[in-house]
Amino acid sequence: MPTRDPHETEAPVAVVTGGNRGIGREICRQLAAEGYRVVLTARDKAKAEAAAAELGVASFPFDVTGDPAPLAEYLTDAYGHVDALVNNAAILYDTWQRAITADLDVVREAAETNLYGPWRLTQALLPLLRRSAHPRVVNVSSESGSLAGMGGGTPAYSASKAGLNALTRMLAAELRGEGVLVNAVCPGWVATDMGGAGGRPVAQGAASVTWAVRLPDGGPSGGFFRDGKPVPW
Ligand code: NAP
Repeated sequence: MPTRDPHETEAPVAVVTGGNRGIGREICRQLAAEGYRVVLTARDKAKAEAAAAELGVASFPFDVTGDPAPLAEYLTDAYGHVDALVNNAAILYDTWQRAITADLDVVREAAETNLYGPWRLTQALLPLLRRSAHPRVVNVSSESGSLAGMGGGTPAYSASKAGLNALTRMLAAELRGEGVLVNAVCPGWVATDMGGAGGRPVAQGAASVTWAVRLPDGGPSGGFFRDGKPVPW
């Protein structure tokens, strides 16, 4: 948990997208166990409520391709600020596509969720993050978005995550003077619906993400990490 003023008595508020299953759900569980007041968001209201009830956290229905204003309004009324935003929701690990023949509608669809979604939500929640004493933005990326290791394949997913990494750098630079730490994290290959069988446990993937939520003041910003260690851009 970020270093906090001893006079601050309220637990920090963390907002997570795509929290109903997979890594997002586990991020919510871990943050709640660490004392955060978690707002689990998911595009399906019933799934958001069910997962939140199981974890004992708050929920709000939110599709990252939609208007973030109702979520921002809810957070303003319920908490007055946000300490951590975890942009986790993502789609379209398009193993069936190649860049040379990719369906650009699919590429566009991936970007809408994986890049413009986090971008739009971060913009919308920035006024609330600015009211936090220790604001953190964590973009859940992937080594698939690393230009250093970029090969062929998964073009929609890889391009969207490369874009998310670029967004991370820009936001970090623009917010550096305000103490908002913005980082991209890779959870590693994780056994979820997206990752498939054989990946590492969800708890390990989520821990790679929550590390960046708990960064102390003065911690890194504008970085790309897995398990707390830098990943090449
Ligand atoms: P997952 O099991 O497929 O879960 C994806 C989550 O995103 C679901 O909760 C899904 O909700 C949600 N989502 C999709 N579109 C959404 C939208 N428009 N609005 C709101 N929520 C939406 O994936 P995961 O493996 O947990 O992945 C989580 C993050 O880790 C992603 O950013 C992914 O790119 C990244 N990652 C995963 C791996 C891996 O090996 N698993 C590796 C590298 C990076 P629904 O249930 O409604 O579909």
